[in-house]
Amino acid sequence: MRKTWTEEELKATVAAYLDMHSKTLDGIPFVKKHYYAELATRFARSEKSFEYRMQNISYVCVLMGRAWVSGLKPAKHIGQQHVPIIERLICELDGQPYMGHAVFEHQVIQYKAKSMRPLPLGTQEPAQRYASTISHARDPQVKAWVLVTAAAKCECCDEQAPFNTANGEPFLEVHHLRTLAEGGSDTVGNTVALCPNCHRELHYGANKEARRDALYQKLPRLIRE
Ligand SMILES: [Zn+2]
Ligand SMILES: [Zn+2]
Repeated sequence: MRKTWTEEELKATVAAYLDMHSKTLDGIPFVKKHYYAELATRFARSEKSFEYRMQNISYVCVLMGRAWVSGLKPAKHIGQQHVPIIERLICELDGQPYMGHAVFEHQVIQYKAKSMRPLPLGTQEPAQRYASTISHARDPQVKAWVLVTAAAKCECCDEQAPFNTANGEPFLEVHHLRTLAEGGSDTVGNTVALCPNCHRELHYGANKEARRDALYQKLPRLIRE
């Protein structure tokens, strides 16, 4: 069996992965095995190797703070050279600018795992980078409505906002359950007010799906998109 994965193979695998993800979002049933089988025939590799590669894609998605396909548990044993390629392909196929977030976070994880960690020199003058991002025009009335409804309490854990801003506003973050990048709407049916801990957990947590489902159960105004 060939050892190195070509760009073409990786691209087809990422495309299949993103397709599964959008089917999940749209509630369209699919069989993962069919995707592996199709790729296996096309590229003469085992179905298992595509399944594992998709688990690597889940790992990169988590590093990027993106949703991953449930059932494809993130697997971090990934060739160093594959992280930037997979991240770039995800961005490309998704129409997002490549930022290298996953590459950076993967390096952090690897350095953390080293037994010897000499004091890093760091950089006195970090190079400036110009980064463009895609953003969506949002409705301030939606954010205001959600914040007023939350009444200074996190809608996930019910704790008080952790602090007031210098302007005297209770600090809560507003989160879209189906993200705007995933085609979610900017409406009160898709938006919650969260404390920073719950907000980060809904993006990065191992149990983020369960947390999300609990919010749908708890708040009758929410509509699954
Ligand atoms: Zn909370
Ligand atoms: Zn969010």
